[in-house]
Amino acid sequence: MTPEDLLVEADRCVKCGLCLTVCPTYRLLASEADSPRGRISLIQALAKSEIDLHSHVELHLDRCLNCRACEAACPSGVKYGSLLDASRATITSEHRKKPLLKQLLHQLSHNDRLNNWIRLYHMARKSGSLALLRKLPVKRFRQLLAMAEQLPRTPVNRTGFYPSTKPTGKKVQLFTGCIGSKIDDNLVQNAIQLLSGLGYAVDIPASTGCCGAMHRHNGFIREAGQQCDAIRAQTGKSNAQNLITLATACHLELAEQQASRLPLISISDFLLQLPDREMPELAPLPIRATLHRPCSSRDSTDWQILNKIPQLELVELAENELCCGAAGSYLLTQPEISNQLGEIKLNHLKANGAKILITSSTGCAMQFRQQIRQAGLDIDVYHPIELIHQQWHRAGVATEQPVSRA
Ligand code: SF4
Ligand code: SF4
Repeated sequence: MTPEDLLVEADRCVKCGLCLTVCPTYRLLASEADSPRGRISLIQALAKSEIDLHSHVELHLDRCLNCRACEAACPSGVKYGSLLDASRATITSEHRKKPLLKQLLHQLSHNDRLNNWIRLYHMARKSGSLALLRKLPVKRFRQLLAMAEQLPRTPVNRTGFYPSTKPTGKKVQLFTGCIGSKIDDNLVQNAIQLLSGLGYAVDIPASTGCCGAMHRHNGFIREAGQQCDAIRAQTGKSNAQNLITLATACHLELAEQQASRLPLISISDFLLQLPDREMPELAPLPIRATLHRPCSSRDSTDWQILNKIPQLELVELAENELCCGAAGSYLLTQPEISNQLGEIKLNHLKANGAKILITSSTGCAMQFRQQIRQAGLDIDVYHPIELIHQQWHRAGVATEQPVSRA
């Protein structure tokens, strides 16, 4: 978005304020500068050079979760998310801001580097130095260490080609992402087994890495573009039927940036479009579960796919339109607001009596797991496909886990 385009888009905001009630930061901070309308005014003033960065504009933009609840509520259709991304890009490129965050995202978005950090983390844990690091009075660092507890015990790399268990000749690509491919390793394995058991060979190319969403939303547009270009190049060479996504934030980024040359589809949508005769047989699960809808996919089809599980009592989590505070790297950059939102969600979770929380977002799942653990609750967090896989297994018809050939 050029500076001129930015101003044209921002001028579409008529300052009606209808977006204020849905904004999580306005709800918590009750300040106009932390509302969508206030931020659009700041973005306009910054673009016209009427204010500079010393006027706290950066603070108010950084506090935005980019949840885009305001965009969904806006009757004028203002593209708030694009305005925010463009403004953050201007700030980071012109003022060379956030070098540490840039470096962190650089480390997190590469398979090998991330695996090195997993090794280092476990070495530090075994040596006892992690306990000392946890005492450092830097809240963001402590938050990072708390999140790191969800890392797998050993480095994982599931890239490769997994043959189908049936001779159908069908093949799909699976997009596993960066952090999600480690934190959600169980989900990745479940998805491979499910798809190959249904007759689809699964390809996870080694060149598949990060979707670039966290870079883009933090203002590192060039790096985000490079990630999308790499995905465009490798999907352009593939003869797979679809590129299947597991995490909603990656899906949204790939869709909005048109980063896949293969037809893009979420794994829930992929299963739902199968003919009934191809759907996996699922064992009943007589338990109460609650669905959390991520901001990156408020109208996802998770509810429909979960309804395929017999006897599952599914309830919506209250205030499902409210962001849980995960918001990509937000839980590291704004830990206080992130925790306040997480606590609101946790109270809703406690109140509805569910034994399982289901969400298709890696970030939301991390946030809920941490909140649940801190509160000492006995509630499991699943991706919809992990639950589908579990009930497929329990039905006794699941096939063996395929082994990668590459
Ligand atoms: S963003 Fe939309 S809803 Fe919010 S003040 Fe502007 S026009 Fe109104
Ligand atoms: S994106 Fe979310 S946090 Fe940011 S202004 Fe809009 S509603 Fe508020």
